Amino acid sequence: MNCPECDAKIDVPGDATSGEIVSCPDCGADYEISKQDGSQMELKKAESIGEDWGE
Ligand SMILES: [Zn+2]
Repeated sequence: MNCPECDAKIDVPGDATSGEIVSCPDCGADYEISKQDGSQMELKKAESIGEDWGE
């Protein structure tokens, strides 16, 4: 997978599951793995922890 931000290569484990968080080694952005059945996985930007979401 490549980082959507900086296009660096992100090492995603082959058995990564949806919801898992990976970090870009280059820009440090965190991404949540989103995997739908029968389709390739995507990286969704994970919001930085520490902010109050007030869900
Ligand atoms: Zn990056």
